[in-house]
Amino acid sequence: MDEERKIIFVSGASRGIGAAIALNLARAGYDIWLNYRSSTAAAESIQKKIEDLGRNCRLLPFDVADEAAATAVLEPLFDEVVPYGLVHNAGIARDNILPLMQRREWDDVLNVHLNSFFILGRLFSKMMLSKRQGRIISIASISGETGQAGQVNYSAAKAGLIGGSKALARELGKRNVLVNVVSPGLIETEMIEKLPLDKILPLIPLGRVGKVDEVAGVVRFLLSKDADYITGQVISVNGGMYM
Ligand code: NDP
Repeated sequence: MDEERKIIFVSGASRGIGAAIALNLARAGYDIWLNYRSSTAAAESIQKKIEDLGRNCRLLPFDVADEAAATAVLEPLFDEVVPYGLVHNAGIARDNILPLMQRREWDDVLNVHLNSFFILGRLFSKMMLSKRQGRIISIASISGETGQAGQVNYSAAKAGLIGGSKALARELGKRNVLVNVVSPGLIETEMIEKLPLDKILPLIPLGRVGKVDEVAGVVRFLLSKDADYITGQVISVNGGMYM
């Protein structure tokens, strides 16, 4: 296959959507640089599954919001090889209504989703520019498209990812570096465990939450040759919840 041996860096890939993306891409023939923050056992289990598929998987634990840590891990590796793709997926939720929101809850969410886009996007795009190829895909959220009560921090961060990705797509297009966003609705992971699904399901035309592989498949498509003419786009994977 065309993409064989290409390396994709996936942030937040020890669990949930990120783990599914890493596995899906490994099945498609990519090698994986797998980032996470603290779930070492979970990350090692994904690494083993990827290696069982015959692909390489390098574990790169660091906090994506920590610029010094990201730079210290990635820059020496870039001397050897530059990954073809950056999938920026790592995320957290600290839900609260704004009048009660603590500054910490705002800062943590903005740091992990959006400041990390600056940190990773800058490190990777510099290298991709010089290679004149690459793909940058961020995982946003329906909350960043519609706004979600109780998630002013998260909605702002995800909307920021969408705006930042469109601007970056314009900056990098001429050098053949494509930048897109995948925006999931409700997807079956730990992040949605506490939500009142009985109230939410009637709002989804397809009548169910999504599966992690339904997000991963779109990421795989955006990394493929079939997506050579797609940049600056937001692809929603939300069962019709927002159109
Ligand atoms: P999970 O909570 O299941 O997994 C989050 C992943 O991100 C873990 O691998 C975690 O690592 C990692 N992570 C968290 N903070 C950091 C950090 N500071 N540095 C590095 N890694 C970090 O989340 P989901 O799979 O549900 O979500 C993945 C992405 O999809 C997020 O961006 C989320 O906002 C988005 N999304 C999810 C939806 C859903 O319904 N689930 C809907 C829409 C968007 P560790 O295990 O080490 O903590």
